[in-house]
Amino acid sequence: MAHNGFLKQKPGFATIAIHTGQEPEKWNSAAVVPPIVMSTTFKQPAPAEHTGFEYGRSGNPTRNTLEECLAALDGGKHGFTFASGLGAMSTVVMLLSKGDHIVSIDDVYGGTNRLLRQVVSRMGIDCTFTDTTVPGNLEKAIQKNTKMLWLETPTNPNMKVVDIAAAVKTAKSLGDIIVVVDNTFLTPYLQKPLDFGVDIVIYSLTKYMNGHSDVVMGAAVVNDDVIAEKLRFLQNSMGIVPSPFDSYLVNRSLKTLALRMERHKESALVVAKWLESHPKVIEVMHPGMPSHKSYNITKKQTSGHSGVFSFKHSGDLKESRKFLSSLKVFTLAESLGGYESLAELPSVMTHASVPEKQREELGITHALIRLSVGLEDVEDLLADLDSAFKAAFE
Ligand SMILES: *Cc1c(COP(=O)(O)O)cnc(C)c1O
Repeated sequence: MAHNGFLKQKPGFATIAIHTGQEPEKWNSAAVVPPIVMSTTFKQPAPAEHTGFEYGRSGNPTRNTLEECLAALDGGKHGFTFASGLGAMSTVVMLLSKGDHIVSIDDVYGGTNRLLRQVVSRMGIDCTFTDTTVPGNLEKAIQKNTKMLWLETPTNPNMKVVDIAAAVKTAKSLGDIIVVVDNTFLTPYLQKPLDFGVDIVIYSLTKYMNGHSDVVMGAAVVNDDVIAEKLRFLQNSMGIVPSPFDSYLVNRSLKTLALRMERHKESALVVAKWLESHPKVIEVMHPGMPSHKSYNITKKQTSGHSGVFSFKHSGDLKESRKFLSSLKVFTLAESLGGYESLAELPSVMTHASVPEKQREELGITHALIRLSVGLEDVEDLLADLDSAFKAAFE
């Protein structure tokens, strides 16, 4: 596999996805495919003694199998799953207490923005949003009571890239700060934040990790035993856990993650290059392209970019509407990371809740379209985009 100056893939990823935590010997039946254990309770040999499982919220064999595999994929020691990506985030934020402060990158996922601004703030935990890709901003935002740094890289829909190692170094030199990276856009196949000193990696498994657009789930992966113990306690105490059936589905999907990500990466680059040479396109924001302003940071910390990226055309809202409703292979829908290609208009869809002024500052105009390039034949995707451009600009 060519790596073209990007981080070389560590060997063994697909083998871990297919085997780790899934030894047939762990089941009495020696099942090769991990069984779906639906039981909510487990027989105890004697009062207050158990054989590893007591009650379905605190632990389930199918869920544990998935958590063990997820931890290994990120090179972490402990994995935890939750009922959604936001469920994982809500639980992680509860590591903090009243009076603590969070610094977050400004261009975060809309749901994260809403959680921090409208829910967590009511618990007496304040948050400062800043563009951590601008030198000096992070140092300025960190206060005496800052206990968590929240990063997403690349960001959405602007594809800003944070230098993870540099951000960790700054945070750790200025306080006792837990660094969190939302790695949903890249997955551990393309980026392993723990390798750069990050404390907690967060996922919306709903996206690439499950990849089949049929499960809502989240995860957190950590190395530190103390943070892990606290998260285990919170996972059980707050109870935002996924079902055994969904755990089975995600575990099954992970087996093809390496294959899927290679194809997403390859097709998205073909589409991005095609767009870059289209006369109606004024900018393509794709971190895996030399034209991206953080291309060098991307090469340093990732093994390439996934299928999500954005572009701006020379029209306005009218052209965007016509373009999006003319697509036939791409589906006009929110979300990303599934096998099917999606297209959307952030200004009126995923980012409609961002106040207009902030949207302007972030450059989220009506001419900015976000794509999630799926696994269809790339020639069909290009033909679809071509005819949509013709319809929009005729
Ligand atoms: C979708 C998404 C989330 C939220 O995850 P859910 O599973 O929908 O709760 C968080 N972060 C990013 C980057 C996402 O794309």
